[in-house]
Amino acid sequence: MDNKKLAELLFPHVNKTPEDYEAMYPPRELPEGARVTRLGPSPTGFIHLGNLFGAITDERMAHQSGGVFYLRIEDTDEKRKVEGAVDVVIDTLRYFGVEFDEGAMKVGEKGDYGPYYQRQRADIYHCFAKKLVEEGKAYPCFCTEEELSAMREKQEAEKANFGYYGKWATHRHWDLPQIEEELKKGTPYVLRFRAPEPEGKYFKIKDAIRGELSMPVNDMDFVLLKSDGIPTYHFAHVVDDHLMRTTHVVRGEEWLATLPFHVALFGAMGWKAPVYCHTAQLMKIDNGVKRKLSKRKDPELSLDYYKSEGYLPGAVWEYLMTVLNSNFEEWRMQNPTAPIDDFKFSPAKMGVSGSLFDLDKLNDVSKNYLATLDAETVYSYITEWAKECDAEYYELLTRDPAFSLGMISIGRGDPKPRKDISHWKQSKEFYSFFFDELFRREDEFPENVSPEDRAEILRRYAEGYDHSDNQSQWFGKIRAIAEDMGYAPQPKLYKKNPEAYKGHVGDVSGVIRVAITGRQNSPDIWAVQQVLGEERSLNRIKNAL
Ligand code: GLU
Repeated sequence: MDNKKLAELLFPHVNKTPEDYEAMYPPRELPEGARVTRLGPSPTGFIHLGNLFGAITDERMAHQSGGVFYLRIEDTDEKRKVEGAVDVVIDTLRYFGVEFDEGAMKVGEKGDYGPYYQRQRADIYHCFAKKLVEEGKAYPCFCTEEELSAMREKQEAEKANFGYYGKWATHRHWDLPQIEEELKKGTPYVLRFRAPEPEGKYFKIKDAIRGELSMPVNDMDFVLLKSDGIPTYHFAHVVDDHLMRTTHVVRGEEWLATLPFHVALFGAMGWKAPVYCHTAQLMKIDNGVKRKLSKRKDPELSLDYYKSEGYLPGAVWEYLMTVLNSNFEEWRMQNPTAPIDDFKFSPAKMGVSGSLFDLDKLNDVSKNYLATLDAETVYSYITEWAKECDAEYYELLTRDPAFSLGMISIGRGDPKPRKDISHWKQSKEFYSFFFDELFRREDEFPENVSPEDRAEILRRYAEGYDHSDNQSQWFGKIRAIAEDMGYAPQPKLYKKNPEAYKGHVGDVSGVIRVAITGRQNSPDIWAVQQVLGEERSLNRIKNAL
């Protein structure tokens, strides 16, 4: 067959050669070992936790090696395209601290390897498709939907593998006159890859996350260009990642199945394949069962969730690192205050069989993280969040900033700081008792103190209250009330001899705690009163009486 003639027939409009493009997009001048990575989202307007996982992996690999991280928009599927989706990708990732060096930008694009929108690269794909046809490595296939489903039924009946390959690949053997006739009639066609005769059944390939993989050699004549001339993901990514000089392709494990085809395609092009890094699916434990995160069931899959709940991006990043790299937690323990950038990210330390995402763990990591921030910083973050997401909270926080700062300062800056806050929405629940508008009695009074004693304790406490008492004077008074009313002044005395007392000083202060904070567990009562002020503290006692 005259492949050159076929190529001219199929691609009469191609006016550049592969060499032209090779010259336009030369290898990048980067230091030895620098990695070039990319994020290739479809512009669907939904960006999720899985994308952030991939993006952080890409970003770390590029930036820790002195390389480049770029954004390529994979918009070949017109139906899934949503207006403004590129802004969503860029803004959302920026919120989490992930920045692109190159590629699609909010306005236009940046970099020498564009265009970075696949829809604008049609000429490039056609040029390389033409080259494949010229070399006999691709051919037009005129099969209709009906023919393909009839083939599938036959394959099912014969218990053969599904797909277009070997003896099933009808049009792979057509000659030029046959093809010309169909073209003249204007019959729609797709362009298929002519899979090379497999040498052996399996081949080996090294995945940077999964190590060496043994995979079946591809024998499928997959589609390269659809009938409208738009490339499939397979063909587009091979051409793009070569010409954009990508060194590492980080993508979800759902692409593992077609990896043999991608490797074959790189081979057919005569190009070196990038290093593939197939990330594991994000999973969660739901009622004891491990399952994939689902868009419908799990709000935490959406990245908007973290923004609207008021998670600090740095804390989320810190948590994601624990999921992404198995040695991160150990490193963090050894380097509690080091900036996270110092951690050497490694794809080899990533999980291969489902990465477990756990909101409780996120909250723990976040509490640790937020406990290290000073009160001013926390105050400005919370108010910024509340301004956007909770008008009532915003009003409460800002009407007396000194008061709010005092509240946030409690237990902060100590060698062992309190770890009460995991995210800003939860901070409202936690701090609610400071504001009379939100205050309510959430817990019962200690049950081993009788109602009569409770009233007596509160009455005496109010009587002896002096706002200028320091902490030890204050506690001395509570101890005196306890002793006077038949409660042990120290818990250990009570433990030694429980019959001799009604309870101990902790029960007495528990009554005061519930009166002041509405809770059995709270930060230090004295410190809380100092923030509430004398009048409000005494009012709480009176109201409890
Ligand atoms: N557009 C592909 C996706 O959204 C990108 C896969 C890749 O990164 O190669 O899944």
